[in-house]
Amino acid sequence: MSIVQRPSELSKWYLPGILSGMGFTFKKMVTNIFNKEGMPTLNYPEEQYEYGPRFKGNHVLTVKKDGALRCTACMLCATNCPAQCIKITAAEHEDPTVEKYPIAYEIDVLRCVFCGYCEEACPVDAIRMGPEWQTAAIAGSSFDYDIRRLAYRPNLKGGIESRVDEGERHNSGI
Ligand code: SF4
Ligand code: SF4
Repeated sequence: MSIVQRPSELSKWYLPGILSGMGFTFKKMVTNIFNKEGMPTLNYPEEQYEYGPRFKGNHVLTVKKDGALRCTACMLCATNCPAQCIKITAAEHEDPTVEKYPIAYEIDVLRCVFCGYCEEACPVDAIRMGPEWQTAAIAGSSFDYDIRRLAYRPNLKGGIESRVDEGERHNSGI
């Protein structure tokens, strides 16, 4: 006796399967129209998911009150990065009280695994990971985030606070 289950005669016809699938889709469509709150999906991009405050999204280089980068180009974040996707070029600062600063700071977000180790490693709170999670772009080069994008992109307003006040830092124990 064969244990192979042969398809029924009915299943050889595609039409019943197609109609059954279309019926199921139509039923779900009507249900969703009349019960939008119960939908398990969001109408992106009009509706966007809000992650919790601990979410580690796109990076931000924080700036001082005068607008200069907080980063001291110490390389700790780049050294700590498991994906080796941070590139920093340090330069001597004209102010003798500042040891050095980054003239270039780049993160290749296509290689980044959003682990947050860079944020953890930074001794001066110069890099943070914020709530932004949309990283879509057309060209590959758009995924190399430079200083302009990391510290001064316009959509930082309303996102993470990139201006860190000295007093605020000391009070919060950062
Ligand atoms: S989040 Fe992780 S992988 Fe991404 S830049 Fe920071 S340390 Fe590297
Ligand atoms: S972001 Fe922080 S850890 Fe990275 S180089 Fe700048 S100061 Fe150092």
